[in-house]
Amino acid sequence: MIEQLRADGSLRHLLTLETLDRRQIERLLERAQSFVRPLGERPPRSRLLEGATVANLFTEPSTRTRVSFELAAMRLGATVVQLEVQLSSRAKGESMLDTIYTLQSLHVDALVIRDAEPGVPALAAAHVAPHVSVLSGGEAHVSHPTQGLLDALTVYQHKQRFAGLAIAIVGDIRHSRVARSAWHAFSKLGVSDLRLAAPATLMPEREEFAGCSRHTELASALAGADVIMMLRIQRERISEAHLPVGEQYFGAWGLTRERLALSRPDAIVMHPQPMNRGIEGSQVRCTKLPGAAYAAHLGAARRSTNCSASYASCESTRACSRKMVPRLEPIRVCPVLSPARPVLPPAPPCAPRRRCAPGRG
Ligand code: ASP
Repeated sequence: MIEQLRADGSLRHLLTLETLDRRQIERLLERAQSFVRPLGERPPRSRLLEGATVANLFTEPSTRTRVSFELAAMRLGATVVQLEVQLSSRAKGESMLDTIYTLQSLHVDALVIRDAEPGVPALAAAHVAPHVSVLSGGEAHVSHPTQGLLDALTVYQHKQRFAGLAIAIVGDIRHSRVARSAWHAFSKLGVSDLRLAAPATLMPEREEFAGCSRHTELASALAGADVIMMLRIQRERISEAHLPVGEQYFGAWGLTRERLALSRPDAIVMHPQPMNRGIEGSQVRCTKLPGAAYAAHLGAARRSTNCSASYASCESTRACSRKMVPRLEPIRVCPVLSPARPVLPPAPPCAPRRRCAPGRG
């Protein structure tokens, strides 16, 4: 496994939450919390990444994650390059490593990678120059660390604790990087009642998700739950023959009013988006329910254009990449994690622009 930390303990790469300890995850959440601003307020800007260049290489579709990474890097002063992979030389057969070497030679300092192939972010991290950082924007079914941080922060903002919570993860857990990173985050942060609920074909192998209880029907997983995480069926990772039939699936696993009533009255329901309405749930059904904050990621794309949270804070300015965390209402000051104290120094006044030396551009 790739070492994500530098010798001084600061974070260089962010490929997985699996090898981070509780304190490291808490520090990332604290920093994220310090970037949260109410909707309608201008998101904070900083020069933390001034002079740095961040390249986003997404070979799988993405809305929220990709835009969040882009806006975060821009708001921290970086130059951002979006590599349209289908228009790049990858389409002519260039290997991922050659693409990365090319970007590195163009002074890219951080690479954000989403790929359907397991191991690609780690491969990149193993080959980049020492000053370059690699951040995963979603690795196959394996890991989605920033989503895990976002989910943890969302839960914390609503519940103000992790200990004692019952969290049910429902749906296509087997193929879900979101579920794996949530498990890493929640188990490290002290959630002891983590429930997996899925039909047998979508349940992960026994040796995975240690410490979670397994439920082959929804009712027992939802009973008394504080948090319900609904997952999308990962069609792109399932062969046609094994795909559940939409209506049947919703009949057994969809979140209905009656089923939601089994959870605690103040339960929150989260979905990482995109949602297949009518299969794992439907927004209307949920938002109408009193007491259920169907909040977490619905509308996250809209929120994230106005939000300001950063997450994956590396101690080195250059190596760091950040992603927006949607601001949830009301913002609560975290009593255990430190409150929204300023983490970044205020931006210095604008320096006069230096002229480029002749011949450089
Ligand atoms: N947006 C999340 C991901 O990229 C969830 C999903 O696609 O179902 O993994």
